[in-house]
Amino acid sequence: MKSHDEGTLFTMLVVGLEKCLRQRTPYPYPAELQYVMNVLSLYMTNYPKTFPDLLTMFEKPVKDWWCAGDIPDSFDPRLRLVYMGQITEALEDFLIEGELRGIDLKRIMLHVDNLPFRKFYEQMRADYDQTQLDEQIIIEAKYAHIRVFLIQHPFTTPAALRKEFGLQWELLDKFYISVEPDSYVYRSEGIVLNCLVCGALKSSRDGNPTSVKLEVCQNRCLTDWQEIFIEPHLKVVSEGVLRRIVIPGRVELALYIHLQDIQTQFATLNSLRIYPGVDAYDLQLHFEDGEAWAVDVKDYRDPIALGREIEGGPFRYPQNNRLYWDRFYYVIPDERETHYPGYCDKVRREAGLEEAPIHILPFSAFCRAVKKKVWEID
Ligand SMILES: [Zn+2]
Repeated sequence: MKSHDEGTLFTMLVVGLEKCLRQRTPYPYPAELQYVMNVLSLYMTNYPKTFPDLLTMFEKPVKDWWCAGDIPDSFDPRLRLVYMGQITEALEDFLIEGELRGIDLKRIMLHVDNLPFRKFYEQMRADYDQTQLDEQIIIEAKYAHIRVFLIQHPFTTPAALRKEFGLQWELLDKFYISVEPDSYVYRSEGIVLNCLVCGALKSSRDGNPTSVKLEVCQNRCLTDWQEIFIEPHLKVVSEGVLRRIVIPGRVELALYIHLQDIQTQFATLNSLRIYPGVDAYDLQLHFEDGEAWAVDVKDYRDPIALGREIEGGPFRYPQNNRLYWDRFYYVIPDERETHYPGYCDKVRREAGLEEAPIHILPFSAFCRAVKKKVWEID
């Protein structure tokens, strides 16, 4: 079996099972369930002959019968999937926690792709929460170093990782896959393509290079893609990491670099942190007059979806916390507002947010607000 692990098959099974039990009759089986049933029937000598027998098996602890790959950490294998013809609470929790209810195969694959990064993030976040200030600064810096590296390097090699991270290179290695003929990435005559906006390009159905987020590519991309020679051991970030970390990260990083530029011109922008508190939000700015601004970059096509996402506004930290902010800015890429005039207003209304101290601004407008601020203090 190909490296179906990190819990892919298990996740497919339970997503398919939940869909199946929601249908009025079990047939036709949801595609995810059918697929894993086929795999199980190959692996098990005593594979159940009928659907009721299969359900009976699902009523036993998972560890007693599961034999087709990893079980994700967030599911306790001593528990069972089904009880009295319904999914168990344990399974329901697992699906809700992973936002997995009713999702399709493609999204399961992406979800599984993202598990290594999520695990890493949760560990760093827990370490941060449990320690003292000087240690917190180190953890935050280490997390930012890794995240920024991923955003800047959708392609890498183990040698390059060792050079950058020394003995800790393996921490990064698990976010990458080999550039093989069956990976998602586009390859042609010994080269792969890198876009400055959307990172590694994938192969479309008809075999042409294309972005994994087409609408980002259409609106923002430069067409002069960078060609990268496929050297031995070349790796590419998994598709999930490309979508969730690299592409949104490109905007976050562009803003960070722009603000660094302002910082070199104006001493009144005292400090600038990226991913403070292990990604509590994206950027924190401290000004000479004592004010702190927080920034979260948000890139949603649909202003209503974004409005719902940020409903209730950001978490407010107490004044003695190093994540405290006086003003909070949701910053969106400029062309969201250009393509959809009134985008920011719509988000604000949908989120039910008052104007101050929480703001929703396009990238350029935010940069102008920062310049105005540093100028005024100066
Ligand atoms: Zn692109």
